[in-house]
Amino acid sequence: MENQVNQSPAIPKWSALLIEAVTKPGLIMKAYSAFHSYSVGNQILALVQCQMRGLQPGPINTFPKWKDLGRFVKRGERALTLCMPITCKRREDNSDEEHTFTSFVYKARWFTLSQTDGQELEPITIPEWDAERALAALSIERVPFDHPDGNIQGFAKQRQVAINPLAQLPFKTLFHELGHVILGHTTEADFADTERTPKNLREVEAEAVALLCCEALNLEGATYCRRYIQNWLCPSIGYKGDAIPEKGAQKIFHAADQILKAGRLAVE
Ligand SMILES: [Zn+2]
Repeated sequence: MENQVNQSPAIPKWSALLIEAVTKPGLIMKAYSAFHSYSVGNQILALVQCQMRGLQPGPINTFPKWKDLGRFVKRGERALTLCMPITCKRREDNSDEEHTFTSFVYKARWFTLSQTDGQELEPITIPEWDAERALAALSIERVPFDHPDGNIQGFAKQRQVAINPLAQLPFKTLFHELGHVILGHTTEADFADTERTPKNLREVEAEAVALLCCEALNLEGATYCRRYIQNWLCPSIGYKGDAIPEKGAQKIFHAADQILKAGRLAVE
């Protein structure tokens, strides 16, 4: 599967949204609590647009969906833009094989609660996130931690993860190891992570997944992840000044989405 991006110039890139998330503590938490049923990338997109226009972040729906809910979009309100994946099919020349690929389009179709009026909304509760439910839904097995080195916080191999029962930040480590599996790293190598994350792109990717998940769910570890990623992003203090490539940023958001969705009860 291949991803293609139709980027409109007014819409920030994934890598730019990721930098927003890294440099602004609390942003993801705020975005998740207002827009949890959308993908993490869209949550940030929606929040940034609300902030730019001075709108109160809250539930968002399309014009017809608001109508179904007994509310109407106020006169003169401009829709918010979100990114929608669309599945396309392509037939190769001289072959019967059909390839599907995902493309992304940006559409201005959504309005937040404060842009609408009408019937009171039922209070919205965010479904709880459960680690065991997430593991089962992702077909990832938690195996006992049997590494002889006590500095190892957790490890990932193939579709298995293990977390040291004495890990300093157990949720952060779990998300980091899940990140390695979902990002496809464990098909290339096994990962054993000490309390000091080494500086390479795969580690930055796994750590960014951990940051998005920790912060969305308000679990301890986001500060550690943020410091590590900022170090990587900032050439003056970092070991290596490479920014996270656009494709990598897109993968990171997708992996965090999968983890967050997998752990929630399917009520949406
Ligand atoms: Zn790692």
